[in-house]
Amino acid sequence: MGALVFSGKELAARVRQEVKEEVEALKAQGIQPYLAVILVGDDPASQVYVRNKERSAKKVGIESHTYRLPAETSQQELLALLQKLNADPKVHGILVQLPLPDHINERDIILSINPIKDVDGFHPENLGRLVAGYPRYLPCTPRGVMRILHEAGVNLKGQEAVVVGRSVIVGKPMGLMLLAEHATVTTVHSRTRDLAFHTRRADVLVVAAGRAGLIKGDMVKEGAVVIDVGVNRMPDGSLKGDVEFDEVVEKASVITPVPGGVGPMTVAMLMKNTVEAAKLQTLNREA
Ligand code: NDP
Repeated sequence: MGALVFSGKELAARVRQEVKEEVEALKAQGIQPYLAVILVGDDPASQVYVRNKERSAKKVGIESHTYRLPAETSQQELLALLQKLNADPKVHGILVQLPLPDHINERDIILSINPIKDVDGFHPENLGRLVAGYPRYLPCTPRGVMRILHEAGVNLKGQEAVVVGRSVIVGKPMGLMLLAEHATVTTVHSRTRDLAFHTRRADVLVVAAGRAGLIKGDMVKEGAVVIDVGVNRMPDGSLKGDVEFDEVVEKASVITPVPGGVGPMTVAMLMKNTVEAAKLQTLNREA
């Protein structure tokens, strides 16, 4: 059959254009959206992600500053910086790039970000709001996936949606967002007894396991919509998704490539969340 290979890169450029227009409208009212990014240590993947975020912010007119802290930064020092940023009215969004070095407790750090500035949407208050059905900031990656599904014209109502992975960053919020749009959601993970049994039933399959080539052609239903969130660095330096693209592209109706699929959408959605944060904190809106 041959699938529509959906370019997240192109859609991300369109989303950035939308954000840029919103930023211009805010600037006309004297509001300059501002994102603070904190990077601790020198993890190479994190450095790439942070650079992409800086570049994207610049393109849309969001002011951003990255605090690059050495790996040996203490938890107390990081907490002190967060307190400062929480209290600074110029700063609308705060993002702490994960993972953090082992001596820093990730939970303590996320809990200490002011939820109104938590543009990643990882603070329990924001995740709780998503569960409760009145979300504030949606986590960027699943938000990007939803936008792809909408743009691809996928009607989720009553569809079998299967999410591979249950992380707080991707899998769990993804399931909740699909559920909110009336899909029948199954979440599978590393202890699932028969992965293929579930993936073969999926009308919409979202894969976020971090295992290169986990999903083979025979694990996918004919005509399924397949979203590959996985990013795996191969020994030759190339990037590969969690889906065996060459096999699955023959069966799917829609598929996202890696790179150029979900990744660019994640960053674009961070920009959207930052503008929403700027609005919430300046236009006297109900938080
Ligand atoms: P985590 O490692 O936190 O979670 C991976 C999940 O996949 C876990 O729930 C794990 O199960 C499950 N899993 C692992 N192996 C298998 C398997 N063989 N079968 C079924 N389930 C399995 O990763 P993240 O959620 O943070 O990220 C997932 C992937 O997405 C990574 O490749 C990451 O790089 C990528 N990513 C991409 C982004 C983008 O913008 N494109 C953004 C964020 C992440 P269990 O819970 O039982 O351990």
